[in-house]
Amino acid sequence: MRGGRPRAPTRAGCDTAQVRARGPLSAAIIGLGLAVLCGCEGAGAPPTTTGLSGARSGAPSDGPTAVPPASATSPPPPPATSASPTASAPLPPPFRSAIKAVTAEGLSASWRPGCPVPVEGLRAVEVTFWGFDGTAHTGVLVVEAAVAQDVTAIMSDLYGARFPIERMEPVDLYGGDDDASMAANNTSAFNCRAVTGGSSWSEHSYGRAIDVNPLVNPYVAGAVVLPTAGTAYADRAQDAPGMIHAGDDVVRAFAARGWSWGGTWASPRDYQHFSLSGR
Ligand SMILES: [Zn+2]
Repeated sequence: MRGGRPRAPTRAGCDTAQVRARGPLSAAIIGLGLAVLCGCEGAGAPPTTTGLSGARSGAPSDGPTAVPPASATSPPPPPATSASPTASAPLPPPFRSAIKAVTAEGLSASWRPGCPVPVEGLRAVEVTFWGFDGTAHTGVLVVEAAVAQDVTAIMSDLYGARFPIERMEPVDLYGGDDDASMAANNTSAFNCRAVTGGSSWSEHSYGRAIDVNPLVNPYVAGAVVLPTAGTAYADRAQDAPGMIHAGDDVVRAFAARGWSWGGTWASPRDYQHFSLSGR
């Protein structure tokens, strides 16, 4: 453990300013999605022209309506009443995403000159995720530009599956301290650092690896469990919220874009780790 204390992590903000996109308005709302998201996040960097993914909706109700158009002879539909369980049940907001440029200043704790990817080759991927509290949040993953679109699609799948993620913040909010980020169960990607237990660059240094809910999906090498607070989750027969198991929605979402899971390695087993290279 390298020690060090993180700055107080903040939960992802922008939880409530959501606009639902349903029916014929969906195209217009989706078109505004990025603007809405940027508004939530404050004065951030403008999106790059190469990375804009646009907002997506995971809501199955999007698309053409199944209700036939009303004719002159059709009776008007009954008004919705509050007694209807479907009329009052709020739908989760649609998935949204944006891909933005990053700066060396913004990554001051995770990037430095000499890292294998220039800062211009990295992107901040903002996505909606499903929180442990059962509501939608906005998180950020810093990844290599070349994989930003696929990472967006993976996170869209996880949101659609309502897979719970506790928090999703750049490791810079933890001073670049991977141990602190793991202990906070923070899902993160880029961090220019050596591979755990070695001296070569970790795949995280290339922005091509993501650790998902690392507290409940620890790194296990014999008797060594990282983070140590995740020892209780080394027993993979459990099914606590946010845990990853072979063949589940998370493993399949990553596999569909060519990413593989460290939970299948012979040793160590890295249950939090997904990478494009398989390392
Ligand atoms: Zn990892």
